Amino acid sequence: MRLPRCIGLMVVVWTGAWSLGWGAPPRVTGVKPVPRAILKLDWEYVAPLTGDAAVIHKGVVVDVTLLNGKRYAGLEVADIQPAKGEHTFRGLSFVPAKDKPSRLQPSALYQIRVAERVFDVVVEPSTKAYLLLDLTKRSERAEARLTARGHRVWSEPTPAETAAALQRFEELYARAQAAFPNSKFSRTETRYFLFYTDLPAQQVSGYIANLDAMYDQLCTLFGIPPGTNIWVGKCPIFAFLERSAFVRFEAEFLQHQPAEDVAGLNHQDSRGHVITTCVRGSDPVFFAVVLVHETAHGFVHRLRSTGRMPPWMNEGLADWVAQVVVPQSDHVANRLAEALPRLRGTGSLGGDFLDDEGRIERWQYGVAASLTQFLLTTDANAYRGLITGIKEGHPWREALELTYGVTAEELVAAYGRAIGIPGLRP
Ligand SMILES: [Zn+2]
Repeated sequence: MRLPRCIGLMVVVWTGAWSLGWGAPPRVTGVKPVPRAILKLDWEYVAPLTGDAAVIHKGVVVDVTLLNGKRYAGLEVADIQPAKGEHTFRGLSFVPAKDKPSRLQPSALYQIRVAERVFDVVVEPSTKAYLLLDLTKRSERAEARLTARGHRVWSEPTPAETAAALQRFEELYARAQAAFPNSKFSRTETRYFLFYTDLPAQQVSGYIANLDAMYDQLCTLFGIPPGTNIWVGKCPIFAFLERSAFVRFEAEFLQHQPAEDVAGLNHQDSRGHVITTCVRGSDPVFFAVVLVHETAHGFVHRLRSTGRMPPWMNEGLADWVAQVVVPQSDHVANRLAEALPRLRGTGSLGGDFLDDEGRIERWQYGVAASLTQFLLTTDANAYRGLITGIKEGHPWREALELTYGVTAEELVAAYGRAIGIPGLRP
């Protein structure tokens, strides 16, 4: 993440400008869980529930994961209650067994595993009936699309892969301690993070709370049940008090030379390892933003596949979630305040904003975050599908049409209307 110059001193024109009659950009707010509803790109994966091909029927033994993270293994299906539409159902009951439910509401279900196949449970909103989506088939098709571009679907890390990752992180920590003998390092381990730092101990818990809030928010956003570990092992954070230590750590141990205005980085690799490094600097709020922003990139790396999102979506999501969990920061407002006069003046997001494969420009970060908020406010379920679709190898414009049902140009025009700039173009 690049360090905006004097972020804390920027003049916020947020409220003032809107009173002149411009539309207000959507305020950045967190998301609440929404039902996973079937989208256009899901229909090809609907699993049969009738006839010989029925994937679930009386007598089949299933493992079930609920949306709240609870799991049940070895439930024998007693009955699946059909709903009106083809291959839809409205209830599932099981042969009574000790400590096991005899009936589960489909609205509480996340996934059902039958032998080696996994099915996602989604709702068909117009009939409120439920369908099973064949995740195994979906992964195969995603794999076929991704392989051509050198990407692959993530599989569950093996215990050996997890152990190797954790060993690598601990070794990096040991080397950092040895390299900086005058700094006092601490190591804090939580369920999902390893926080290695030379920051004063009393500052660590607040930053970890931000990371936990980010993790929860992104799980909610992507419909991932609580308690799911997305990392290979854990996500390590190396947070340095001094810039010189951050730069030296990067160069010596991660073979990277951070640019002068970079305050944090997220390293990701094809093994699925994710490492956040950052420097504290003089602004504790901005540091919190950088930490969350960078680690959110790591979360996105671990979603579904190694596939890449376009930078505007990736940066937009990272800045959006940083604003959600660090609400005292005005970084999104400041960046947007910087961007809006340009958008008004040119009627454009910059020409290559949507298709830029490299790094979006600094002034465009505010646009990316508020466009993300606009997508989420419009339809949070479609957003989940959009990102998942891209990660499954659909080109992003195609994924946008198959989830929101709009072209990129239509999206930008709608966003423009929402922020009071009609006729806005990419
Ligand atoms: Zn970023």
